[in-house]
Order: sequence, then structure tokens, then C-alpha cells
Amino acid sequence: MSLEAGLLEILACPACHSPLKEEDIELICTGQDCGLAYPVRDGIPVLLVDEARRPA
Ligand SMILES: [Zn+2]
Repeated sequence: MSLEAGLLEILACPACHSPLKEEDIELICTGQDCGLAYPVRDGIPVLLVDEARRPA
């Protein structure tokens, strides 16, 4: 499943406002000190810090 072209460019991490990168079924924050992974459900990115997976 891939997000619409161009969508990633307008998405930013709600926690630190860094760009996101698509990885499998998640959107990973590229912020060096953040790195939260946001789930994508039915093609809809869930950009909520409460729903994000913390980096290991
Ligand atoms: Zn972030």
C-alpha cells in the first residue's frame, strides 16, 4: 500500500515537525531525537502522538 504521491511532502511529525518517510505500513519521523512511527490505517496516516510507536 502506498500513499498518494505528494502526500508525504505535506505531512510532518506532529511532535517535532520533521518530515516523515514511508516505511511498510508506518510513517517514520526523520527527526534525529524523535523517530516516532505513525501507523497508516486503510491508507490514512494516523498522525497522533498517542497512537505512535516509540523507537526502540
Ligand atoms: Zn518527530
